[in-house]
Amino acid sequence: MRRRLVLGAVLALGVLSMAARAAQLAPVKPSAAAIDVEKLAGNLFVLRAPGSGGATAVFVMGNGVMLVDTKVSGWGPSMLETIKTLTDKPVTTIVNTHTHFDHVNGNPEYPGTVEIVTHANTKTYMEQWNPVYGINVGDNPSPFKASGGRGLPTRTFTDRLTLGGGAESVDLYYYGRAHTGGDTYVVFRNARVLHAGDTFPNKNAPIMDRNNGGSGVAYADTLAKAAATPNVDRVITGHSTTVSVAELKEYSDFIREWVAYVQAGKKAGRTVDEVVSAWKIPDRFKGYTPVQPGMGNWRPNAQVIWDETQ
Ligand SMILES: [Zn+2]
Repeated sequence: MRRRLVLGAVLALGVLSMAARAAQLAPVKPSAAAIDVEKLAGNLFVLRAPGSGGATAVFVMGNGVMLVDTKVSGWGPSMLETIKTLTDKPVTTIVNTHTHFDHVNGNPEYPGTVEIVTHANTKTYMEQWNPVYGINVGDNPSPFKASGGRGLPTRTFTDRLTLGGGAESVDLYYYGRAHTGGDTYVVFRNARVLHAGDTFPNKNAPIMDRNNGGSGVAYADTLAKAAATPNVDRVITGHSTTVSVAELKEYSDFIREWVAYVQAGKKAGRTVDEVVSAWKIPDRFKGYTPVQPGMGNWRPNAQVIWDETQ
């Protein structure tokens, strides 16, 4: 189980080298046997599998099951099979943290009666289906075109929305632009757990997807607000392990430093490539992945920050 988790983390989208990314995007046959289940509370689980896309939170309520993110296409049946081992309740609600294919493509594979909740901007991006900035994901058609619109959001919010009630309260927050322009932070209030989606890839370079409203300059402020969310101890990352809220706070400091570094490089008259290749992660940030050969996500990040800086 542990080995699978580590492998899943290593293969996480956009986290490592081009080679690792290519491996992650290679087709993986969906199966329930490949799905790792992490139990965070009596009624809260995280389901991960190599090559399946983002981490899915499974929240079991009195009347049904809420999912946060639905992975790449094809995993719905295996997910439902795994969820059946956790509860008899049907899936009634899906929340998507953001628009990317590896978090929303599974939506049409769940019953048409499911309520699908996203930030209003994310609904727009899901309808537009813009390419992800800075990474090449190959042929990536909209799953909603093929489904005739099934799986698109049926309910949206702009700043904050609470779903459920009492011990089953789930708070959705929008704190501004970061990974995209519609990133939702999902708080399972009773379990004190926050799903941060891809705004927090763990100790690594983020993706600043300006094609879908993402921003470099706004990123750190958005993360700092997320880290200050009430009722949170633990954080589910988009593709990596579950970590502490202190690590999310540290990540906001890390991004702030990276953005300031790029901006200083631009003001000093250097080039984007010079700035990226000279980036040394400060010693106080332990365990962060340095710039890779080919520069991974650092290069497109730097370009986004560069172009947002006067
Ligand atoms: Zn993403």
